[in-house]
Amino acid sequence: MVAVTYVRDIDASRTFYELLGFRELRSGKADTSAWLALYQGGQPVLLAMTRPPLTVPRLPLLFYFFFDDVDAVARRLDAAGVEADHMGYPPHALGGEVKVTDPDGNTVLLGQRERSASQPPAADDGASPHFSLLKEAAALVEARGGTTATCRVRDFQGNPCRKKADVKLADPAGDTAWACLGHADEILVTVPGSFIASQDDQGIAAFLSRRG
Ligand SMILES: [Zn+2]
Repeated sequence: MVAVTYVRDIDASRTFYELLGFRELRSGKADTSAWLALYQGGQPVLLAMTRPPLTVPRLPLLFYFFFDDVDAVARRLDAAGVEADHMGYPPHALGGEVKVTDPDGNTVLLGQRERSASQPPAADDGASPHFSLLKEAAALVEARGGTTATCRVRDFQGNPCRKKADVKLADPAGDTAWACLGHADEILVTVPGSFIASQDDQGIAAFLSRRG
């Protein structure tokens, strides 16, 4: 899969994505358009531009890229004067997660899956605002009598997680699923439009089925 986004200024975007470690694979230019295929650690991105520029509506577009050394990328961004926020060490990025904004205003999250030997131990893995929000939701479920549900998420091999579920998640299509904290965190980052549902929430499935 190749992530594609339209940009206003392909040269400004090239500079930004090269700072993240992306390198040009191919590019092309015509009178009314330009495109640029970039690549970093197995992750391709295609940037496209039209002249006159396409009016691109503001989208909740988010790129999530994984790096072997996210601290090195953060240092490069810092040296270039690009503002980057460290988001802590969520379960899907034990080596750290950094948030930046690209020249078109898209959110770009940079993560490192595993903590490396050279990194100091995390002072508080609950430092991620994302994760503490989930903990609050889990505490609310607990306060209302808890749940006997188990985590519905399967791992990459297809094996069910089987951990005790902590929170209920939903998506705009009305699907809901119980999940453990670690998997809930992963779903919120990777599934577009997913959100933390209240315990009794059935999403909008009933409404949709009434509409037939
Ligand atoms: Zn789980």
